[in-house]
Amino acid sequence: MPSRSASAAPVPKTPPAASAAAPKSQPQKALEKLGLRRDIDLALHLPLRYEDETRLTRLADARDGDMVQIEGQVTHSELTFRPRRQLRVTVDDGSDTCVLRFINFYPSHQKTLSVGARVRVRGEIRGGFAGREMVHPGFRVAGGELATALTPVYPTVAGLPQAYLRKAVLGGLARADLSETLPAEFMNKNLPQPLSSLREALSFLHQPAPDVLLATLEDRSHPAWQRLKAEELLAQQLSQLQARRVRAAMRAPPLRAPVHGPQCTLQEQLLERLPFRLTAAQQRVGAEIAADLQKNLPMHRLLQGDVGSGKTVVAALAAARCMDAGWQCALMAPTEILAEQHFRKLIGWLEPLGIQTAWLTGSQKAKERREALAMIASGAAGLVVGTHAVIQDKVIFKNLALAIIDEQHRFGVAQRLALRSKMTQGGEEPHLLMMTATPIPRTLAMSYYADLDVSTIDELPPGRTPIVTKVVAESRRDEVVERIRSQLAEGRQVYWVCPLIEESESVDLINATQTHEALSAALNSPHAPPLRGSLPPEGAGSALGRPGGGAGTQVGLLHSRMPVAEKKAVMALFTSGQLGVLVSTTVIEVGVDVPNASLMVIEHAERFGLSQLHQLRGRVGRGAAASACVLLYSTGEAPRLGETARARLKAMVETQDGFEIARRDLEIRGPGEFLGARQSGAPLLRFADLATDTELLAWARALAPVMLDKYPDLAQRHILRWLGGKAEFLKA
Ligand code: ADP
Ligand code: MG
Repeated sequence: MPSRSASAAPVPKTPPAASAAAPKSQPQKALEKLGLRRDIDLALHLPLRYEDETRLTRLADARDGDMVQIEGQVTHSELTFRPRRQLRVTVDDGSDTCVLRFINFYPSHQKTLSVGARVRVRGEIRGGFAGREMVHPGFRVAGGELATALTPVYPTVAGLPQAYLRKAVLGGLARADLSETLPAEFMNKNLPQPLSSLREALSFLHQPAPDVLLATLEDRSHPAWQRLKAEELLAQQLSQLQARRVRAAMRAPPLRAPVHGPQCTLQEQLLERLPFRLTAAQQRVGAEIAADLQKNLPMHRLLQGDVGSGKTVVAALAAARCMDAGWQCALMAPTEILAEQHFRKLIGWLEPLGIQTAWLTGSQKAKERREALAMIASGAAGLVVGTHAVIQDKVIFKNLALAIIDEQHRFGVAQRLALRSKMTQGGEEPHLLMMTATPIPRTLAMSYYADLDVSTIDELPPGRTPIVTKVVAESRRDEVVERIRSQLAEGRQVYWVCPLIEESESVDLINATQTHEALSAALNSPHAPPLRGSLPPEGAGSALGRPGGGAGTQVGLLHSRMPVAEKKAVMALFTSGQLGVLVSTTVIEVGVDVPNASLMVIEHAERFGLSQLHQLRGRVGRGAAASACVLLYSTGEAPRLGETARARLKAMVETQDGFEIARRDLEIRGPGEFLGARQSGAPLLRFADLATDTELLAWARALAPVMLDKYPDLAQRHILRWLGGKAEFLKA
């Protein structure tokens, strides 16, 4: 969430030096989190909005809703306790009075605001119940010079105060190389007005003169904004065009079905043996992929489909086509559990057809690994499935032609490139199929992934019943346990997910462990102790359920800190139905497929992101049984749920459509989305808006090829300036 508070910020400490060998301070870490590493990154971090601290307003002249700065004397100050504890301070500036209200305050604030003091106050003026007021305004002792430029308010994150960020940005702006990369002939080509220089535009946007029309900054129509948007769009077009040209020059082995002998192809046999018919959507995307594979250009395709839409079988059919043509195929998944699921499913389908599949993972024994490597090198293994282990140097394929990456957003650029580099045949590239359950909204797909072909499965397999989603307060936990009981009585299985808090994995562990113990106890005793705050009962079952515990319900525990072997053992027990309940941290987030599971409980659902909740929910509703998802929320100390948390839970109740979820996610997260996406490495647009900046987009589209051909050095500098190392992303 970008902080909106510009005033009353703590005194800034030293802004960061360009390279710091000393341990990083919290604000420095926060800067990195925002991707602000280079001077130019800081210079290109532009304000969200501005505050006008260049003048004082007379209270009598201020209208309701105005953001104003006033100066006056405190005439009254009191602590009141109704409706709740708050500090109320009356200020008189000679023209009128106004009440300042604070709910959070320190004794030092009370001192600055004591009766008789002269103060400068900044805030939004509102007509309150008892006259005009400002709630939580910024303030300080009166006097001192007024600002000469508007005060920028930057997008930020927790732990990075505006004042610190402001100093850092100005420092970056002063040091950065802002020399022109746009050829002079571009500056007013087909534009309503010539572009200003980058240096001018940036200096202005960081410190606009007070007489600027604020509206032109807000709607970004000001010439300085035009320049920045033009720059950004050009960088995007350049990098995509470059990636396209690089790819067009590459070659891949065409993967065609062999000419028919008496025997069916693997692909045909696989289709024959499937226990279900493909949906129309699966057939369509399958055909799109097959058409790509036939070409001698490397496929670069993203297969997107909601959780449970059946992407795996589409991948298996592509793999079969690849092996039909006599080449090897590799499938890489982000976690061992997920990779193993794929492995099992695929050997179930392919081994009866005489295909050998190799399994590669970081945790396997040396001997097992050696055997797998030998099978891969000799070509005995037609298909290789695994985790990151697949891209290690030691793995040498005989003839890799198709690389499939599941949950592609979980992999870094370097990893995707590494998988592609596994192709050793005379300068050719393998075909690349990436899969994701997090759909990219259409407008983004068209502009940011212009170099990527997208196939979409927009239909779920038949016979799925919709998942009923309920939002339930933590205080009703006991009812949820009842619900679990009734599901178990019907022979169904249940997931219980606990949140993972980044900073404190140990706390999560306690949380998940306690929930596990408490659930085991509750489900195995008719007079269960209350779940909340209960201590683990003495000698409660191990993570694998109660050893020798005959009739009781088996509750398993799965968390990220467990050794892989143990994780697998737990997962296997749950898959085979020996565990009724699986308590887990978010390790089950992606890909787990246990159709008998019909209830998903997500604890502290308010802490999860929307797409994460959607992914988790997708673990149920995979069989024919009616399924449900319970979103347990806790408000903790706060009286109510935060606004965005509420919006997320509401979206979950209202829709089950992954595309709609993605759209709402974007809407809820707003501008913060840009920051999140930047971290993930995708060069998203921060400033330009494709829907409204059509003229600039046309300009950038027309000039990008000219720039690459005529001014290649400037083009590289321009890409580097805007995308830094991220330009690589487009190649992966
Ligand atoms: P995801 O797209 O989330 O990876 P999966 O490939 O794991 O989904 O498929 C979810 C479940 O649906 C699996 O159990 C799979 O075997 C099954 N499935 C896939 N396609 C069909 C189909 N056309 N008809 C019925 N079940 C299907
Ligand atoms: Mg999957």
